[in-house]
Amino acid sequence: MSLLIVGTVAFDTVETPWGKAERVLGGSGTYAGFAASFFSTPRLVGVVGEDFPAQYLDLLVGRGVDIEGVQRVSGKSFFWAGRYEEDINIRTTLATELNVLETFEPVLPESYRDSRFVFLANIDPELQLSVLDQCDDVEFSIIDTMNFWIDGNRAALDRVLERVDAVLLNDEEARMLCGTPNLLKAARMVLEGNPKLVLIKKGEHGVMMVTEESVFMFPGYPLEHVCDPTGAGDSFAGGFIGYLAKTGRTDDETLRQAVVAGTTTASYCCEDFSVDRYGKLTLDELANRAGEFVALTSFKKLEL
Ligand code: AMP
Repeated sequence: MSLLIVGTVAFDTVETPWGKAERVLGGSGTYAGFAASFFSTPRLVGVVGEDFPAQYLDLLVGRGVDIEGVQRVSGKSFFWAGRYEEDINIRTTLATELNVLETFEPVLPESYRDSRFVFLANIDPELQLSVLDQCDDVEFSIIDTMNFWIDGNRAALDRVLERVDAVLLNDEEARMLCGTPNLLKAARMVLEGNPKLVLIKKGEHGVMMVTEESVFMFPGYPLEHVCDPTGAGDSFAGGFIGYLAKTGRTDDETLRQAVVAGTTTASYCCEDFSVDRYGKLTLDELANRAGEFVALTSFKKLEL
């Protein structure tokens, strides 16, 4: 099934206690596109400036991502910089420069308009709305966002939330969006609106998926060394929706499998800077790691 992703295509500068990567390929659309490409052929919508190296876009094309919907315009590309602490869960954003995003008006290529699965990755909610408006026949849509947009353009974000089937938030964003510290309560508050599914990401501690009928908890893959977690959330989302698009289904069992696909894909994202690990990753490797979760999560019912 066809999959459309809208998000940022960016220059990222990332500092961790173990190293620094400057102006490397990043962005929510980039990470989601890479992750989804292991399961389907994503169509990407985004914008870059004239300073963006062609080699970076070639990396996306090399993974089979369709970039016809990535516009190149005059001006500087979106730039983000962040620094991680020794506790890799703690991140400080050092810079967010919107640049070409400020005037970007997404125009979907004709060939994208019939997309059935849509992932609105982290980007200005006005742009997410504009993309939704241009799709003819969406079967399943999911939105990701960030504190930057929850604070910065809440009204537009609320309008997107009224139209999508699923919402992806990290724990901090869920608390901020719903004004409650309890994540299950926050998820249930989101479900009172249009969305039928809420996914709350808890970094290395995994993810909680909540629908009206069920709650599913899944851990992160236990990595001994995390090099750079930037884009892990977007990679989870890309793997999740990529798997749904591959199967064409959104029933409870498939949603749970999609969580495994997203979690496994995201674990590779953390093993190197930028999208470097994806360049070497094979589908066999990915399938084997996903299989490890069967043993990691199975246990016998207690005899009490
Ligand atoms: P994550 O680590 O999953 O939160 O994603 C980090 C990625 O999101 C980086 O590659 C950034 O370029 C991109 N990003 C950071 N801030 C924003 C923002 N405000 N809007 C859209 N994308 C962003």
